[in-house]
Amino acid sequence: MKNRKNSEQQFDPDLKPDEFRKLGYQVIDQIADYYSTIRDVRVFPKSTSKEVEEIFYEDLPEEGQQPEKILEQWKKDILPYTTHLGSPRYFGYVNGSGSMIGTLAEALASSVNMNSGGWKASPAATEIERRTIKWVAELIGYPVTCGGLFTSGGTMANFTALLTALRNTAPYDTTEDGLQKADFHSKFTIYMSEHEGHISITRVADLLNLGRNSIRRVPDREDFSMDPEALRSMIRKDIADGLTPVCVVAQVGSINVGVIDPLEEIAAICKEHDIWFHADGACGAVGAMLPEKKHLYKGLELADSVTLDPHKWLYIQYECGCVLVKNSEKLRRSFSLNASYLRGTLPTEYSGLDYYEHGPQMSRGFRALKVWMTLKAYGANGYRKLLTQNIRCAEHLDLLVRNSGDFDSFHQPNLFIYSFRYMPKRYRAAVQENPGLKDEINRKLDQINQMIADEIQLSGTAFVMTTRLRGLTVLRLSICSHRTTLKDIDLVFSKIREIGRKVVLDKTGDEIDQVV
Ligand SMILES: *Cc1c(COP(=O)(O)O)cnc(C)c1O
Repeated sequence: MKNRKNSEQQFDPDLKPDEFRKLGYQVIDQIADYYSTIRDVRVFPKSTSKEVEEIFYEDLPEEGQQPEKILEQWKKDILPYTTHLGSPRYFGYVNGSGSMIGTLAEALASSVNMNSGGWKASPAATEIERRTIKWVAELIGYPVTCGGLFTSGGTMANFTALLTALRNTAPYDTTEDGLQKADFHSKFTIYMSEHEGHISITRVADLLNLGRNSIRRVPDREDFSMDPEALRSMIRKDIADGLTPVCVVAQVGSINVGVIDPLEEIAAICKEHDIWFHADGACGAVGAMLPEKKHLYKGLELADSVTLDPHKWLYIQYECGCVLVKNSEKLRRSFSLNASYLRGTLPTEYSGLDYYEHGPQMSRGFRALKVWMTLKAYGANGYRKLLTQNIRCAEHLDLLVRNSGDFDSFHQPNLFIYSFRYMPKRYRAAVQENPGLKDEINRKLDQINQMIADEIQLSGTAFVMTTRLRGLTVLRLSICSHRTTLKDIDLVFSKIREIGRKVVLDKTGDEIDQVV
């Protein structure tokens, strides 16, 4: 073998300290500029998928490029085609706004490239995650002796909880036999409410390969919460029919109306039949930190597991979900695995909790840092103020709707989600005069409300989406930005009305009558 020539130097892509500093300061300046315009930025870019695709049409870069050039693209090509979730008038899906200190936390976490899958790769990160999980539990009144971890989101948190449910309630060892035990002829079932049960549980049924038919939809009550009596009789009947109930998933702040299922009653039914009780609080569980809302959450502490999403109502940046499991040993047993390359052969005291044994991921980022830092920066009290501000906005919107005469309300604003629809007076009068017209008018209103949402998105003023409530298309605002004020709500409400009138005029050629 020939000796390597001295001239064949090792390729070193790292920047010199001064270069890094210079670029880093530029990036920070850009981020600071961005934050200073976040209140006024156009919320949704008016551009088609094709237009955006073409901007990024580029051959695979064979040779490296200057970092300055690459970073320039952020401002030139990326920001203009971005939907701004941090805007105070972004009300889509359930998307948090992103805390500033969380942005800095992300930079720090990635600078050391922490992998908090195994303790040895991340001693401080692991212990910060353990501490933060306890803080989160304490914040919502859940036993701090619980286990749990941060996940990519609510869906994976629900998956983690439901696999744990299956592992700990099935009448045989599903860790070894999965769903393929030859002499097991029953079927596993999961329960959630008919109207408000979240679609992520469907994904979980996919991942667990239980099949979507394993999900049993429980009828709900007038206020959209699960009817516990219906749940009880459904479970009794299913057991009598030879099925094997695994888990009841309660909504803790539901996706369309923010309702909280009757947790204490569901807990009692689960206990009666030895069924796992999971509380899906991806959007709403953190509301339990508010004394004025505490009564709605009675029974949350009884849940075997809880999902909550810091990237929703804790304003943490993506990705960050969280699952809490009351009995941490049950969680560990459900995910534990071992391989010689994961652990040394002799135990030493220089080891600790390996998160790969507590959840679906092996390698995992340092998500806990942004939650830990933001919680320290805001304090529990800061969070209580922010959550209360959001609830006040939802209540304010509800008041505007109820006092309007040309909008319909459908529910109390329990938390920060509010659904309603535009209902011009003339349409209301027509239905009152001739109830036979109801279906036809509802179909028209479905279209009108959808067009309002589409138009307001394109206007750039605010981002609003629709959903379906008991068969009707309604406008839905998820107000979980720490930046939203009552003024923003006034603004979006008048914009909705303005667009609504225009849509009706364009559609029917009729002027809308004067509105109070
Ligand atoms: C958002 C949400 C989920 C899914 O969470 P992701 O973070 O989007 O994966 C699950 N359940 C409820 C009630 C939700 O609101």
